[in-house]
Amino acid sequence: MSRINGFVGRRHFLKIAGLTTLSIGSLTACNEIINNRSEIIIPQKNPNPNPVSATEAQKRLIAGNKRFYNQNRRYPNQTKRRLQSISETQYPYAAILGCADSRVPPELIFDQGLGDLFVVRVAGNIASDEAIGSLEYATTALGTQLIVVLGHKNCGAVAAAIRNKQVPGNIDTIVDGIQPAISENQERDNDTNNDINNDINNNDINNDRDAVISNIQFQTEKMQRSSPILEQLISADRLKIIGAFYDIDTGKVNFL
Ligand SMILES: [Zn+2]
Repeated sequence: MSRINGFVGRRHFLKIAGLTTLSIGSLTACNEIINNRSEIIIPQKNPNPNPVSATEAQKRLIAGNKRFYNQNRRYPNQTKRRLQSISETQYPYAAILGCADSRVPPELIFDQGLGDLFVVRVAGNIASDEAIGSLEYATTALGTQLIVVLGHKNCGAVAAAIRNKQVPGNIDTIVDGIQPAISENQERDNDTNNDINNDINNNDINNDRDAVISNIQFQTEKMQRSSPILEQLISADRLKIIGAFYDIDTGKVNFL
């Protein structure tokens, strides 16, 4: 079995996850099964013997963030005992798709510890194929029932997408991943402001909360649209995907 940092090869991952599919003869066949929405492709039951509901998971995140912004942190689940207790298995109770920004570390802002959160971070919290694949793993193989798409105030990636100027290297993939959300947001703003003939000034909406929230919503929808696995888990009432906005000035997270 191939293992990389706790991850297992795809064929073994499907087997471990207890996926009730036809036999998997090749990666090509596997892709066909994964992409066929009519197939039952999610595990029959949650692999976590004590699954945490989405509602309970959100409560824990809210409580942890409150401790953080009130400077009343408990630093839970960070002892050597915790380290050892999760060395063989992990059942993170929530998954976060967050920005790579150094000011937005989920374990810190939610006051959580080892094994609590399954965190995927990329600039602009983009639902890339790799991010979606990681979250499919968290939900099917590890039993996580809540995904939070976490955007934040003063997001440089969102600002770059608003400016929409040429950027070097692979940074353009980040801008391209956010651009559709910004276009939608600007169209809405234009509609709203048409009556008063108020032209939108890019500087006014730079780092604007609305643009960040628009990106959170766009990435959330893209994730659901692109993943039959996540879609089926949601339909089976075994997964919720929600958005949240982090204010880097106050440390407070507001769930959308
Ligand atoms: Zn950011």
